[in-house]
Amino acid sequence: MKLKNSRSVFYLFAAMVISSVVIGSYCKTKFMPISDAIAAEASDKTSTPVKSKYADVDVDMKLVKVGEHSYYVQGKAGIATDNAGFISNAGVVITDAGVVLFDALGTPSLANKLLQKIREITDQPIVKVVVSHYHADHIYGLQVFKEQGAEIIAPDGIYEYIDSEVASSRLEERQFSLDPWVNENTYIVKPDTILDDTEKFTVGNIDFTINVIGKAHSDADLTLFVENDKVLFTGDILFEGRVPFIGNHTKHWLETLQSLETNQVTALVPGHGPAAKDPQKAITLTREYLAYMREKMAIAVEEMIDFDEAYKEVDWSKYAKLPAFEAANRRNAFQVYLSLELE
Ligand SMILES: [Zn+2]
Repeated sequence: MKLKNSRSVFYLFAAMVISSVVIGSYCKTKFMPISDAIAAEASDKTSTPVKSKYADVDVDMKLVKVGEHSYYVQGKAGIATDNAGFISNAGVVITDAGVVLFDALGTPSLANKLLQKIREITDQPIVKVVVSHYHADHIYGLQVFKEQGAEIIAPDGIYEYIDSEVASSRLEERQFSLDPWVNENTYIVKPDTILDDTEKFTVGNIDFTINVIGKAHSDADLTLFVENDKVLFTGDILFEGRVPFIGNHTKHWLETLQSLETNQVTALVPGHGPAAKDPQKAITLTREYLAYMREKMAIAVEEMIDFDEAYKEVDWSKYAKLPAFEAANRRNAFQVYLSLELE
């Protein structure tokens, strides 16, 4: 409630006096000077209830439109504690029955700022947050949206992170290095819904598809496709011009990539950095890479060749010069090998 004029101050004052008499010993305002009580009451009811709770953060955050209903905010390149922790992206899809988010940024303060940005363009409630993966730079903002009543959706496997020593020591470290934006009130929000397979859902007028990728960049990753806008949010598994991360749901991911190719994705928003300049090319590179990987590893599985030996035998020269090859390729090959054994 904003105290716009003296009349509303008077009404509030009258209400305070009456309520302190009626509520008696339960009313904490009884023990405060009336002016403090009015201030406390007023700040409890300001139009953005989350504002006072999270430290303000001074970063440049803009909602960039990538589809009729789809937006994202782009973190700056850097290490985790640069730019007040604003190094990762978040997606925002506005429907006529609520807002769907993709990831939650690296601090509650950043998430609160994102919420304010969203409030500049819509009053729709935040109904769902789809989390690409559980790494600190994408999840510490979740509590802000949980408080807004959003359902948190994450891929199966994230408890490997949540229950790990890494998760708790990382949080402790960030409470120090990203203070006051991450502090003793920051906690890891557990998801309401865990998915181990593709999931389609509709909010208002918009259809969404979640693709569960499995163990890829992290213990568990997923992507979100906004069907109406043809916008793909990829989290940290797929960046333009870089070797992607492949999970252990490879057959399904390959089929999905094929359908995304024919579907003509209009925007591809990764977990860091700008949206892809040529989304189709990024999808095609990933599809070809995965197909090659499956072809080569299938031979090894069929002939019962041990993974290390099979990996050495494959000609990787087509991909070896791409960024992230060292970090991703062997791990990808192993996930594909394992998934083919199961198939
Ligand atoms: Zn990340």
